[in-house]
Amino acid sequence: MSIVVNEIFGPTVQGEGPSAGRQCVFLRLGGCNLSCHWCDTPYTWDWKGTSDEKTAFDPRKELHNRDAGEVVEELLALGTGLVVISGGEPLSQQRRLRPVLKGLLEAGVTVEFETNGTVVPDDEIITPGVRFNVSPKLAHAGDPASKRIVPAALTKLAQTTDVAFKFVCRTTDDLDEVGTLQADFGISPIWIMPEGKNVAHISQHLSSLADEVVRRGWNLSTRLHVLAWGDKRGI
Ligand code: SF4
Repeated sequence: MSIVVNEIFGPTVQGEGPSAGRQCVFLRLGGCNLSCHWCDTPYTWDWKGTSDEKTAFDPRKELHNRDAGEVVEELLALGTGLVVISGGEPLSQQRRLRPVLKGLLEAGVTVEFETNGTVVPDDEIITPGVRFNVSPKLAHAGDPASKRIVPAALTKLAQTTDVAFKFVCRTTDDLDEVGTLQADFGISPIWIMPEGKNVAHISQHLSSLADEVVRRGWNLSTRLHVLAWGDKRGI
């Protein structure tokens, strides 16, 4: 079965959330069902140049149909104990990904999905060794709430045992929005990440939010990959 892949790269480190700093390999898939204007991976979906980068990427260059077995082999050859499956929105291909998950888990590799929380995960992919890092998008991402917030998906993800909810935030108004989602859907644990594609913006948002994040009983994460490598691709 083939999977639409954007890129495979590593070893690198997980940049955000509970596993930040851990060695991993990235499987970045193509296609997204949202269109966040500040998206830092517009090359996975923006074929018209609508995001802040204002670049119309070429799907013939960015999307590659790859055989699941070959993808597993390539990921295992890169030799880390963690594979992060990101995008784009990886759960849009969750059925095609089942053989990849099986191959990785059988090899003793753990898997983290980076999902925007708008796709209900199938029971078959909710299994030991798989964590869901769910990043629902707030109003500042630009899409209407009816696209960004899918109650059935958030409710099911909130009930999985290995899950973390990560929010890209700039202001305390953003934190209030997170608080409303927490109350509405019982999501936990919550991690707040500063928005920014460079060190200055990340530092500015991190220091302005830190006290309030701690006061609300949430966790704080930076974006290690941006601090270490800027917005360079494939690292
Ligand atoms: S959900 Fe993620 S990949 Fe999709 S547009 Fe938003 S930031 Fe980009």
